[in-house]
Amino acid sequence: MLNLVLFGPPGAGKGTQSAKLIEKYHLIHLSTGDIFRANIKGETALGILAKSYMDKGYLVPDEVTIAMLASELSNHTEANGFIFDGFPRTSAQAIALDELLNSKGTSINLMLALEVEEEELRNRLLLRGKDSGRADDSNPDIIQKRIDVYNKETSPVKEHYSVQNKYIGIHGIGDIELIFKSLSAEIDKTI
Ligand code: ADP
Repeated sequence: MLNLVLFGPPGAGKGTQSAKLIEKYHLIHLSTGDIFRANIKGETALGILAKSYMDKGYLVPDEVTIAMLASELSNHTEANGFIFDGFPRTSAQAIALDELLNSKGTSINLMLALEVEEEELRNRLLLRGKDSGRADDSNPDIIQKRIDVYNKETSPVKEHYSVQNKYIGIHGIGDIELIFKSLSAEIDKTI
């Protein structure tokens, strides 16, 4: 199995690169943000709860997010591997993911982290908000809140993979195809 964590701040390009990577490596894309948004659209209890955090730029509580991820994983027992996009976002989530994969006899191969500076992130998110209608991308204060939450709660997750020698930083500004090539080159070294 090939299990990748695609990491990076909001607006780093995780969704764009995930779409290309799943096609190339035949992996299942597990984006916690996408799953929450699907639940919001379907007006499920999970969606209503998640929305109350997402709209403010906060993280959905670990307990809820981890339970959701565990249930998604068990829906894909036949998978070749996974790309985790937007998960883990806290140290507790990283520990839970290791345990979950461990219990299935597998583990994370690599964390690929897209590195993009804050000014560029703010511009990209505002631009995306104009087209997507995502409430959390339309308000500069919420965008800043998400970047702050990333720096405080999510960024330490790098350390979790770094001590396991699985962390790789990739420059995330420039041509989408070139970034994809850099990601693919790192993956190809491990398979
Ligand atoms: P972005 O990377 O642009 O912020 P996402 O779609 O990954 O977009 O996430 C949108 C929102 O969904 C986050 O701001 C957060 O509120 C919630 N969310 C997504 N993944 C997680 C997670 N692993 N833990 C907690 N909250 C999450």
